[in-house]
Amino acid sequence: MTTLLGIFGDPVEHSRSPRMHGAAIAVLGLDAVYVPLHVRAEKLPAAVEALSALGFRGVNVTLPHKQTIMALMHELDETAEAIGAVNTVVCEGDALIGRNTDAPGLRRSLEEHGLSLGGMRALVLGAGGAARASVVALAHAGAERIVAASRTVERADQMMRDLASAMRNHASSLESKALASIESALPDMDLVIQATSATLNGGVDAERFAAQLPLEQLPEAAWVVDLVYEPRQTTVLRKASARGLRTVDGLGMLLHQGALSFEHWLGQSPPLGAMREALGFTSK
Ligand code: NAP
Repeated sequence: MTTLLGIFGDPVEHSRSPRMHGAAIAVLGLDAVYVPLHVRAEKLPAAVEALSALGFRGVNVTLPHKQTIMALMHELDETAEAIGAVNTVVCEGDALIGRNTDAPGLRRSLEEHGLSLGGMRALVLGAGGAARASVVALAHAGAERIVAASRTVERADQMMRDLASAMRNHASSLESKALASIESALPDMDLVIQATSATLNGGVDAERFAAQLPLEQLPEAAWVVDLVYEPRQTTVLRKASARGLRTVDGLGMLLHQGALSFEHWLGQSPPLGAMREALGFTSK
């Protein structure tokens, strides 16, 4: 029987996941398909119900379903529960397991660059889904101090309160700040994770956002990560590189969250090189 995999989203045409997983399936010579599935919000319960009926092994989940699908799962893994979002469904017979591979995907991507998060002091910019995944990745890896900063401080406050009660096992200190007042925190940071959408697609606003970040206050050995991968070399990464700081772009997280989903469904590691190539990012 052909193994059925796919991705639920609305819109879904833009997703690079079918190409990435399709390439891995081809290289391994598996009898499997991964298809984009356009699912509107009001049809999500019916689409989830159909997974078992049609014999799907699993799906990825993207906007706008990552939160709403949680209530339709039989079980959630610890990371999905902590982040409050599911990006991977694994069908175990009739049982649907909701998982989140964004946080472990980010951690793997950083480890690939030699960046280990244990004991780190980190500043996370943003208070949306990517910021939540970053905080959970840091806390689960044993970061010492995590400060979240957003332009509306109330959103960062709320996110950190939610995460503090949702994460079962962590010993990190969790704080929040207004984006406008991060300067004093920067000298104490080992790592900044840019998890807002401010740098997406570049342009004047992205330039302004980077110009306002006082990265010169960071220690020389600090790292700057931008989760945005379009463009790969964001305004924030360019500014960090110009100051001699070490940088990591968002492509690795995209790749590794997909690789982890693949492992959950198929029980084997996918060929990362083929997946990376299929993502279609040829240059920095
Ligand atoms: P989201 O839930 O919509 O959150 C966006 C966040 O960005 C909010 O906190 C928002 O602040 C903030 N923001 C937007 N424009 C800003 C600006 N000009 N200045 C300051 N803050 C600004 O989005 P998300 O899901 O977290 O995704 C964020 C970005 O991460 C996306 O652009 C995506 O490309 C990237 N991402 C990458 C991966 C990966 O695999 N590499 C995975 C997920 C996401 P307010 O709350 O004040 O509006």
